Formats: sequence, C-alpha cells, structure tokens
Amino acid sequence: MKTKKELISIVISCYNEEESIPLFYQEIIKVAKEMANVNFEFLFINDGSRDKTLEILRNLSKKDKRVRYISFSRNFGKEAAMFAGLEHSKGDYVTLMDADLQDPPSLLPKMFKIIKEEGYDSVGTRRVTRKGEPPIRSFFARMFYKLINKMSKVEMVDGARDYRLMSRQVVDSIISLQEYNRYSKGLFSFVGYETKWLEYENVERVAGETKWSFWKLFKYAIEGIVAFTTVPLTIATFMGILLFLIAIVFIFIILFKTLVFGDPVSGWPSLACIILFCSGIQLLCLGIIGEYLSKTYLETKKRPIYIIKETEKSNV
Ligand code: UDP
Ligand code: MG
Repeated sequence: MKTKKELISIVISCYNEEESIPLFYQEIIKVAKEMANVNFEFLFINDGSRDKTLEILRNLSKKDKRVRYISFSRNFGKEAAMFAGLEHSKGDYVTLMDADLQDPPSLLPKMFKIIKEEGYDSVGTRRVTRKGEPPIRSFFARMFYKLINKMSKVEMVDGARDYRLMSRQVVDSIISLQEYNRYSKGLFSFVGYETKWLEYENVERVAGETKWSFWKLFKYAIEGIVAFTTVPLTIATFMGILLFLIAIVFIFIILFKTLVFGDPVSGWPSLACIILFCSGIQLLCLGIIGEYLSKTYLETKKRPIYIIKETEKSNV
C-alpha cells in the first residue's frame, strides 16, 4: 500500500534579502533532495522589501512549483511575517527559518526524525554561543532573559531561535492566538506541547546585514515583557505603598521635631532631594502604566497583523 507523502512547509521571512535568497534556495533544495520521503513547500514572506527580493521570489516561483510567496504591502516586521506564514502554510509540519542561513537547513532532517520517532510535538533550536555578536548586545540579551524569566510564568529559553519544526496541531494553536502585539518566543512556550531543544553554535549571516538595531531590540524586549507579565505594574504598586509608609513616618518625625524643638528653617536640600526622588518614581510608574495602556489601546483597535499585496497566484 502506498501512503500519501507528508508535507513540510518551510516559512521564510525576508526583508531586503536579495543577496541571501539565492544562496538559501540552493541549500534548501539540497536538504529537500536528502529528505525524499516527504514533500516540501517553500513559503517566502516578502516583508515589504525595498530591494529585488520580490522579483527573485517571482522568478523562483515560476521555476519551482514548490515555491510560494506572499508579499506584504509594506514592512510589517518579522513577527507579522511569521504569523502570515503560519496562517498560509499547508504542511502537516511547519518550520520557520531566516533567509540568511543563520538557521542551518541541514538540521531539518534531524528535527523531523525527532518528531517522527521520539513523539515530540515540536523541535526548537537554541544557539549556545553568541559568536560574532557585539559583546554589549550579548550582555543585554542575557540580562533580558534573566529578568523576564524571573517575572513571567511562561518560560523563555535563552538563545532560543524562532527556527523550529512544529506539528500541525501546534501551528493551529499558535494561529489561534490572534493578538496584535506578537512576541513569538513567548507564544511558542505559552501554547505548551512537548518541545525538544537542539543546540548549535551560532552561525553568522551569509550575506547582507542584520535588520535589528540595538534600539529595535530594546523595544522588542519591552514588548516581550509587557506581553507576558504584569509584574512591573505590581512593582509600581509596591513602590507606591513603600513611599507612603516612609512618608507617614517622616510626618511624625517632623511634627515631633517642630512641636518639641521649634521650627528653625533648615533642611531644604533634603526636601529638594525628596521631591525629586518622589516625582521621579511617579513618572516611572506612569511610564509603566503607559506601556500597558498603549498595548491595550493597540489591541482594542483590532487592526490586521499584516496586509497582503501580492502572492504567487497573482501572476500565473
Ligand atoms: N526580517 C523580516 N522583517 C523585518 C526584519 C527582519 O522579515 O522587519 C527577516 C530577515 O529578512 C531575516 C530574519 O527576519 O530573514 C532575521 O533577521 P536578521 O537576520 O536581520 O536578524 P538577526 O539574525 O540578526 O537576529
Ligand atoms: Mg540573521
């Protein structure tokens, strides 16, 4: 009896990747050839690139029927690209990859074998080194993971990549989370399921340069914290309570001093310090509340996560 071959969808988000895509395509067809017992679909998401990425994808999809693409109307960010890819993928298994070969396609056969033979629902990858990355960036990344894991119940694995192979069930669960402010690393652990982690050494990108500035990463980190924990709000409340208690003690001390010893005018430097300190904390807390409020504001608008301008079906 001949059973139907299973389908693996490879979702690749691309933003200005004209140099990397041809190299990536070569690698991926090699892997596809190796894994002859499964069918493949290569679903490229063009995230509003301003270079020749779209042209390259059009040509590839004409040449190779396994290549599909979705092209956004503008740059919506990698999170939106991954989400669109998951929503449009047809495979029994889906994997997310970067176009720059930093997620080695050569790991795929091993990942597939683990899911098939060891009964895991998904296989994630994490890099154990951050070779080739600026040290200051690695330092902040490590701090971020320490911090968020202390605050959030959902576990975030340090060094975890978005590169992972998932069964259809996992993918459908992730798609069912329709939030606008997406922080995938958190969403992956939020949905649960059995995940095995494969470790590998960091690989530097083959061509082009990283699309993440330090500032973009910083904002992404805040997004992760706001999306997965409300601990900062609790910290704000505690700071408020603590300052309130200190204030009461001070009021008594000052009253006592004034009544017993009279009121020589002194101590304005300490007063200035106290005012500065308290107003600083107030502004900080307002800022924290503002972060949550702004995310809530964006969620209530229910805007689409991405807008498609063109797909491979547009030009047949
Ligand atoms: N990417 C994207 N939209 C963006 C930024 C990046 O689709 O707004 C894609 C990019 O083309 C690449 C992947 O996301 O395939 C990872 O980006 P990059 O290599 O710049 O990040 P890094 O590996 O440095 O973290
Ligand atoms: Mg990269």
